[in-house]
Amino acid sequence: MTVADNVRDVAERISRAAARAGRRVEDIKLVAITKTVDIDMIREAIEAGVRVFGENYLQEARGKIAAIGHGVEWHMTGHLQRNKARDAVNLFDMVQTVDSLELAQELDKRAKSADKVILGLIEINIGGEGSKNGIGEDELIPLLDSIKVMNNLTIQGLMTIPPYFDDIEKVRPYFKRLRDLRDAANNEGYSLKELSMGMSHDFEVAVEEGATMVRIGTAIFGERR
Ligand SMILES: *Cc1c(COP(=O)(O)O)cnc(C)c1O
Repeated sequence: MTVADNVRDVAERISRAAARAGRRVEDIKLVAITKTVDIDMIREAIEAGVRVFGENYLQEARGKIAAIGHGVEWHMTGHLQRNKARDAVNLFDMVQTVDSLELAQELDKRAKSADKVILGLIEINIGGEGSKNGIGEDELIPLLDSIKVMNNLTIQGLMTIPPYFDDIEKVRPYFKRLRDLRDAANNEGYSLKELSMGMSHDFEVAVEEGATMVRIGTAIFGERR
């Protein structure tokens, strides 16, 4: 299987999951996760039609983004330290892992200096696992309230990495929970559209539960080194 075959296969599975849920496939973005993936393979994915890429480490992203450029979208999908906010603003279109007020403030400030608007998703620790990043569910509305006044950081939705289960049906309630949280925020007057949830092993369930972005690494590029 080539990268192009894999992209076709994943796109087909997204489209069947969307159909099962009565959703439009245009409302679901494939974000190819390229940590440890080399530039040639990223180019193959672009050839196959992928337009959005996610990187987890700034150090690694820098060279790849320099080589490939901004004809495609780049998202930061790994944990971001506050002292790296300036680099992140320069490199990425979106930071999917906004997980504190301090990071949000720093992104807003650095984006203002760069005269741009950085897009963000709030990362939620939906399973409440100690080992995972992200804010607790109760912290969402207070954080959104604080970010609302910022002019150079625009929050477009929520992101989560749920607990891992071999049985993907066990993940479904966590995806539902993220959607409910978004809908609850929208009932409070926000207009969050995006739900970034679902990875190689469970993206079809995520699409059935309303994912607007699925983050796929292994199913496109193979097992990571
Ligand atoms: C690595 C990673 C993915 C992709 O995982 P796969 O199982 O390889 O599809 C998705 N999201 C985040 C945040 C990741 O770090």
